[in-house]
Amino acid sequence: MKIAVFPGSFDPITLGHFDIVERATPLFDKIIIAIGQNSQKKYMFSLEQRMDFIRRTFKDFPNVEVDHFEGLTIDYCHSKKVSFILRGLRNPADFEFEKAIAQTNRELTQDNKIETIFLLTSASKSFISSSIVREILTFGGHYELLVPEAVRVAAKKQGF
Ligand code: ADP
Repeated sequence: MKIAVFPGSFDPITLGHFDIVERATPLFDKIIIAIGQNSQKKYMFSLEQRMDFIRRTFKDFPNVEVDHFEGLTIDYCHSKKVSFILRGLRNPADFEFEKAIAQTNRELTQDNKIETIFLLTSASKSFISSSIVREILTFGGHYELLVPEAVRVAAKKQGF
């Protein structure tokens, strides 16, 4: 089985993340969207909310699962016996950052090679980031075009 882990904070999931997962589904038998929890970090949405947004967003995708983990992504991949990490690339800054992480991960997994697979984001989604969405939510701007319906509904309920 070809399984990929798509790791990230997903605070919250955006249409950019959705684009990457949707386009990756034909490439893998299963994709696990895995929320990496860092106890030092402050999040806008709780882990439960972020998992719920992802679950609702991919409810019609039988091969997409949601999970969460603490610690290193590669340790999580080893524990799940997964050989692929999926990441999205928006711009040269993403590339530089991701290159360092992917090469480090290869060094750290010598006898159990994990390959990182990158998909270029669609042009129409390449400007979207969770941090911009959080900024727009905080200051009352129009976030509706940037996030999936599950996030829109929850944000409305929370008064954003
Ligand atoms: P992190 O906290 O690791 O940056 P994110 O939740 O922001 O996690 O992103 C997870 C993955 O999704 C990363 O590979 C990132 O490059 C990708 N990504 C984020 N936004 C977009 C977008 N608009 N288009 C494509 N990929 C994206």
